[in-house]
Amino acid sequence: MLSVNQVSVSYHNRMVVKNACFDLQPAEIGCILGPSGCGKSTLLRVIAGFEKPAQGVIKWKDSELSNPRFAVNPEDRRIGMVFQDLALFPHLTIEQNIGFGLYRLEKQESNRRISELIELFELSGMEKRAPHELSGGEQQRVALARAMAPKPRLLLMDEAFSNLDVDLRHVLLPQVRSILKHEQMSAILVTHDQNEAFAIADKVAVMNQGIIHQWDEPYTIYHQPKTRFTAEFIGDGELLPAKLIEGNRLETIIGVFDVPDEHRLEPNTSFDVLIRPDDVLHNDASDLFGEVVDISFRGSHYQYRVRMVDGFCLYCFADSHHKHRLGERIGLEPHLEHLVIFDKDQSYVIERNITHSNGRLRNHRSHRHASSHPIE
Ligand code: ADP
Repeated sequence: MLSVNQVSVSYHNRMVVKNACFDLQPAEIGCILGPSGCGKSTLLRVIAGFEKPAQGVIKWKDSELSNPRFAVNPEDRRIGMVFQDLALFPHLTIEQNIGFGLYRLEKQESNRRISELIELFELSGMEKRAPHELSGGEQQRVALARAMAPKPRLLLMDEAFSNLDVDLRHVLLPQVRSILKHEQMSAILVTHDQNEAFAIADKVAVMNQGIIHQWDEPYTIYHQPKTRFTAEFIGDGELLPAKLIEGNRLETIIGVFDVPDEHRLEPNTSFDVLIRPDDVLHNDASDLFGEVVDISFRGSHYQYRVRMVDGFCLYCFADSHHKHRLGERIGLEPHLEHLVIFDKDQSYVIERNITHSNGRLRNHRSHRHASSHPIE
């Protein structure tokens, strides 16, 4: 098990990773997700042993890999790495590339492992080719197979899929996930792309400005963000200002939410409520309206962006046949299954018994219906 405990990294006295903490279980796939320059690669490099922590400890099970005074050499960590540029050896064949790190094995053993990886990564028939004779996706598979060949206990991938087009990534990421699971190998992917993170990871670290905001399963990151940054960086959505009114109720421009009494909110505090696109459905019969300012047709549904009173904008889902034009006023109906509320210090996730202004329960998926009468 990898344990990263209170790790900070500085370049020229500037701290670019601050107090990073997370544990990766055996065979678990983690992802470090955040905007460019937030410190993701630096965190990966300190785990690989290319950087030294200014403070904190990195361990594999009980043995220390790095602390500010001591570091196991990168080549002695049993960690494999794949970078964005792949760095395949151009003068070696595919099978020689894959076998590169297997020099300690007997020839027969090494050939067996190479064949196993060729099969797992669906590279049969390409063994004798040079890297330049392969497509981008095939080269990607070779780079991954080469890094996995010596059976590292941890595979680190730095933006390793960023050069591939979306369709290829869509196919490759679940395959890589299933190969990692088959090999029982722990892995960490660094990426700025949440779709990549969600496609491969068991756990995601959301990072910004050197700080890990949350380390959780993708579902939890999306539905129960702990900070405003996570709420806004992951998925679409808006933070709507909310006012606490009598009886533990939050008033917003889309209605009043009764918060169950066990979540006593502090009076005279400003609150924001997270509203995701699937929290608001288009409904012709509703008397809550918004003006369409952006339209995104997703095939199975529409995602409209609508402007509300006071200029606040929201996303809203509509049935695939509900075609509206820019500037049209459409009816909206909030359907929140849970409520994510932020005050200035913390977040509250309220899972049950959320009632909206008209008092109907909103925490059942079976209540979700968009109107079936398109306006045109
Ligand atoms: P990310 O991977 O999230 O894009 P990095 O970890 O590469 O971010 O960089 C984090 C910050 O550290 C950036 O501001 C970057 O300019 C700085 N940085 C990265 N590597 C070095 C280095 N070798 N020397 C000095 N500053 C660096």
